[in-house]
Amino acid sequence: MNIIKRVFDFRGTPILASVFAALFIAESKWQLRKRVQPRVKRIIINSIVSIPAFGLLRCLFLPVMVKLATKNEQNRFGLYYQYKAHPLFKYTVTILLLDYGSYLWHIVNHKIPLLWRFHVVHHSDADLDLTTAIRFHFGEMIGSVFFRGAFVFLSGASAKTVLAYEIAFEGVTQFHHSNWRLPFKLEKLLNKLIVTPRMHGIHHSIIREETDSNYAVIFSFWDRLYNTIRLNVQQDLIVTGVPTYSDADELTVGYLLKLPFTKIRKWEKVMDARHSIEGVNNMVE
Ligand SMILES: [Zn+2]
Repeated sequence: MNIIKRVFDFRGTPILASVFAALFIAESKWQLRKRVQPRVKRIIINSIVSIPAFGLLRCLFLPVMVKLATKNEQNRFGLYYQYKAHPLFKYTVTILLLDYGSYLWHIVNHKIPLLWRFHVVHHSDADLDLTTAIRFHFGEMIGSVFFRGAFVFLSGASAKTVLAYEIAFEGVTQFHHSNWRLPFKLEKLLNKLIVTPRMHGIHHSIIREETDSNYAVIFSFWDRLYNTIRLNVQQDLIVTGVPTYSDADELTVGYLLKLPFTKIRKWEKVMDARHSIEGVNNMVE
């Protein structure tokens, strides 16, 4: 049987569906940020927008990644095959490289105007919750085939590692987008290693300096390493979204799908009236 079916469809998909269901219950029961939009309306919009992106993930992204990994295995190309060490160590290095690739991919999505055209669809959501985790324009998925594919190619990741990483990538993406109020101390502890809801919530702020921080996907230490971390923002002060794309009536499914092909509006400066709390590395409630 095809490895994508065996690993991603039969193992990954039930795991991710269960994580989704658990997070849905958790964020309904323990809400972190106040909602500004009707929940059902957003579930419908975000789900429909996600369909072409999911189609491309399964039928283009994963097959290309597996093909690259298989070719590497045959040609013994990529970092994995160039040195001797315990397999566990080598797997860890590969996973870290793939995640570093995801961190850089997220940064270029914000910095390169052509890529921002697509990523703005994700950021235009006026609330941030589990369904934002699937609100991606399919164009972004096409771009990631090239960028993240390069990291698969250079790291020498095996097909199994690529698929395992992708399952973890999707799971943590669901988690850090969720609107789940975790016990503060627990989240602070978890955040030492992985990206958590309070950390990613700041990345979705309408204040530019806050959006320009917290790019990491699975491991939070990339942001610490490159000084792109910002944790000292109170969650109830965050206004989510993009200032120039905030008209809910305008952001229909049709508009969101064609948005990348329209003239992109500049980010309007929003006055920041909040107290700035000392230390970007200090998480606050
Ligand atoms: Zn982003």
